[in-house]
Amino acid sequence: MTLLSLEKVDVFYGDLQATFGVDLRLDAGEAIALIGANGAGKSTLLRAIMGMTAARRGAVMFDGQDITRLRCDLIARRGIAIVPEGRRLFSSLSVEENLLMGGARARPGPWTLDTVFDLFPAMREFRHHNAAELSGGQQQMVAIGRALLTNPRVLLCDELSLGLAPKVVGEIYACFAGIRDKGVSIILVEQDVVRARSASSRLYCLLKGRVTLEGASSSVTLDDISHAYFGDRRS
Ligand code: ATP
Repeated sequence: MTLLSLEKVDVFYGDLQATFGVDLRLDAGEAIALIGANGAGKSTLLRAIMGMTAARRGAVMFDGQDITRLRCDLIARRGIAIVPEGRRLFSSLSVEENLLMGGARARPGPWTLDTVFDLFPAMREFRHHNAAELSGGQQQMVAIGRALLTNPRVLLCDELSLGLAPKVVGEIYACFAGIRDKGVSIILVEQDVVRARSASSRLYCLLKGRVTLEGASSSVTLDDISHAYFGDRRS
């Protein structure tokens, strides 16, 4: 069942058009990946879904309702949450206080401090530390936990691996199974195409604001991706 879809979405920043007629769908229970070079429009699509930069043309549909021009906080109330690029934690607050920011106006659902700590057991140990004292990987876990505490149906993840060591990235992505087990669908933006492919069931590649490849992650080859990513597909 389609839970979220973009229909011919054009997003602009002033006069600059960042995406062109993007169609995309997320089925309930799945994880999809958006890949593409810097500036391809991946974060812009997450912003359009979340209502941070509304699509000028086209539609964003969620659970059968048009949310294209809804305010960001109202979209969050309906069950979409974002883990933003760069984590954006409150550095002077503790881990627990940062997490509770997510829970402040939460929907009812399975995510509580305890279930987040079950997902990231190490977080129990550093729950009283200031966010500024944490490693990048620990901060990323807190950013994910904060988003989960809103009890979303869809989690948008923007470049979780940015600036993290490969081992840490592996630990972060290992949480996806636990998140999906609780019924949360995921859209992830990821520069690392190998990681994006392994963490998703389907993927979309963007090039200069247009979808150049869509397919099952297990069946698209790195060659397909390379052509779609760099735009040198030859027939
Ligand atoms: P990255 O991996 O670098 O984040 P991206 O694929 O997420 O890349 P976007 O950040 O969505 O790409 O950018 C798409 C286009 O929109 C780019 O041309 C970018 O310069 C432009 N853009 C993004 N944010 C803004 C903004 N706030 N104001 C003006 N233009 C912007």
